[in-house]
Amino acid sequence: LNRRLDGLGTTIFAEMSALATATGAINLGQGFPDTDGPESVREAAVRALRDGRGNQYPPGPGIPELRQAIADHQRRFYDLSLDPDTEVLVTAGATEAIAAAMLALLEPGDEVIAFEPFYDSYAACIAMAGAKRVPLTLRAPSFRPDLDELRAKITPRTRLLLLNTPHNPTGMVLTAEEQSAIAALAVEHDLLVVTDEVYEHLVYEGTHRPIAALPGMRERTVSISSAGKTFSFTGWKVGWVMADSPLVSAVRTAKQYLTYVSAGPFQYAIAEALRLPDAYFDSFRADLRRKRDLLGDGLRAAGFEVYQPQGTYFITTDITPFGEKDAYAFCRALPERCGVVAIPNSVFYDDPDAGRSQVRFTFCKRDDVLDEAAGRLRHLA
Ligand code: PMP
Ligand code: GLN
Repeated sequence: LNRRLDGLGTTIFAEMSALATATGAINLGQGFPDTDGPESVREAAVRALRDGRGNQYPPGPGIPELRQAIADHQRRFYDLSLDPDTEVLVTAGATEAIAAAMLALLEPGDEVIAFEPFYDSYAACIAMAGAKRVPLTLRAPSFRPDLDELRAKITPRTRLLLLNTPHNPTGMVLTAEEQSAIAALAVEHDLLVVTDEVYEHLVYEGTHRPIAALPGMRERTVSISSAGKTFSFTGWKVGWVMADSPLVSAVRTAKQYLTYVSAGPFQYAIAEALRLPDAYFDSFRADLRRKRDLLGDGLRAAGFEVYQPQGTYFITTDITPFGEKDAYAFCRALPERCGVVAIPNSVFYDDPDAGRSQVRFTFCKRDDVLDEAAGRLRHLA
């Protein structure tokens, strides 16, 4: 393993899901739903496979139907206009979009300011690009970014701000004021912004607004999203990049040599998914909001300190009330102790002390599974 990948070993998601499989514990670790997305969308994938659409290499930037549907979705929800031919790129999930964006936009030695706790692929992709991650720590209980601290972290080497809202793992959703302040800094210092918005439809308090919509931001922002979370098809790996054409073209150059193209038949199905009526998006969000409250109540009853998320399908907790402070050790032992798997947020920080006692649970599971998990966790105290 080369030095750029030092310490990146196996992702915590793979480690904890393997632990769930090995022990038969309820997996509230890795974020994937236990109920698949809409039947009509699955049928669309089957039709594409059967009719021979996308079974051979699809076009590099993604099939035109999907690029058009992505552009139409941005107009419908955010009143943003995108040219589907030059300003949209389909990727193998948001994960590839992040990797391709980092590889395309960073020079070795560039600094990237990113929130921590961070989604784990950010650290890896910045490292693979030979750049340096500069963490902006989000602190409990609110996990709001300190914008003075952000300003102080900008140096002449800063190339890019890597944002994530709604934020995994904390569930923090940037407010309009925070976004405006961040945008003003990006304009002032002529920075690129890469924004990971895969949880755009999972906001329970406030609303999601793409930072690309703010003045001066369009030409410097690469927006990333994915079908995995919005439509409950995390295994399909359909994601996308949206930006002005020079930025999309740069990211596309990198993408060509990572996967060349993304899997065909699922692209046809997601093109249909993006056209589902508003009722789909509304009821999906309402359902997850209810699950958030269900699991949140269960975790509080079990004795956790619960940090209420405004978005995503994760709840970050603190285990200090149990007299414990090492989240990783806690999560390793949890299946044995009570048959539940969770994710230690400590691995999402550079500073091992920050977030040391934080544990993340996902609530994208059936109600009976959440009830059972909450019941098991009550035996912890
Ligand atoms: N970004 C964030 C913040 C995530 O939580 C995830 C996991 N869904 C991804 C990116 C990766 O998305 P995908 O599965 O589409 O690659
Ligand atoms: N995004 C999901 C999570 O945070 C899964 C990520 C993964 O397995 N790479 O749990």
